[in-house]
Amino acid sequence: MIRVTLGGDELAGFGGDGPDRRIKMFFPVPGQERPAVPRAMSGGPVWPAGEARPAIRTYTVRRFDAGSGELDVDFVLHEGHGPAAAWARDARPGSWVGVSEPGGHYEPDPNADFHVVIGDETALPAVATVLDALPDGVPALAFLEVADAAEEQPLPATVTWVHRGDREAGAPLAEAVRAAEFPAGRGQAWLSGESACVKDLRKHLLDDRGIDRRAVYATGYWRAR
Ligand SMILES: Cc1cc2nc3c(=O)[nH]c(=O)nc-3n(C[C@H](O)[C@H](O)[C@H](O)COP(=O)(O)OP(=O)(O)OC[C@H]3O[C@@H](n4cnc5c(N)ncnc54)[C@H](O)[C@@H]3O)c2cc1C
Repeated sequence: MIRVTLGGDELAGFGGDGPDRRIKMFFPVPGQERPAVPRAMSGGPVWPAGEARPAIRTYTVRRFDAGSGELDVDFVLHEGHGPAAAWARDARPGSWVGVSEPGGHYEPDPNADFHVVIGDETALPAVATVLDALPDGVPALAFLEVADAAEEQPLPATVTWVHRGDREAGAPLAEAVRAAEFPAGRGQAWLSGESACVKDLRKHLLDDRGIDRRAVYATGYWRAR
């Protein structure tokens, strides 16, 4: 995981605060210093003519400080080395990247009896913002799968950390969630990570744990191939 802090006049008025805010990021293609970025128009995005289209990936607003205008994004430097991970690995002061307006709809339910938060390292930045937003005094169970102990981070809640080691992505996480005891009552769940694991655990939360489908907020973040 590497943290990249972005700045620039274009971030003035950026609405990035809150739990689980996600942005589209536009990465320069080989030979380009600055990526092309689209203009948002009512009929859809309009791209500058004659410029190569960037690689586009989705990332989480880990922190936005309106005072300093700084935007932190945490990138997993995964083995597949796609354009986003490669850009983060090579980024230096002065490197350019494009950022969209933030989106995201998750809000903690103030009436939930307990919260469950589940993710892998790609979801760790979002999990941190989700845990920050949970109401005090309501039980919260958090499960995070990372490669090994060195990838754990301090978070504002007690977390069950599981280590992937040589196992398939998502397998240790699915085991840990299935083995856990949940509090009684009406739960709300947030989960993200490898897509097949998210699909499997969403089904587990609905079918085996009886959590209401409207209270399960699940997103596949990446696909193991
Ligand atoms: C809403 C949302 C928020 C996200 N927030 C973050 C975030 O804050 N930080 C973050 O690091 N990621 C985050 N992701 C996940 C990130 O968008 C993907 O991991 C993305 O595929 C990375 O792009 P890339 O160009 O590096 O690799 P790609 O070109 O997309 O993929 C190249 C190869 O790498 C593999 N791969 C991709 N990601 C991983 C991975 N994590 N581990 C192992 N193999 C992988 C693919 O299977 C593929 O074979 C988020 C995704 C979503 C949908």
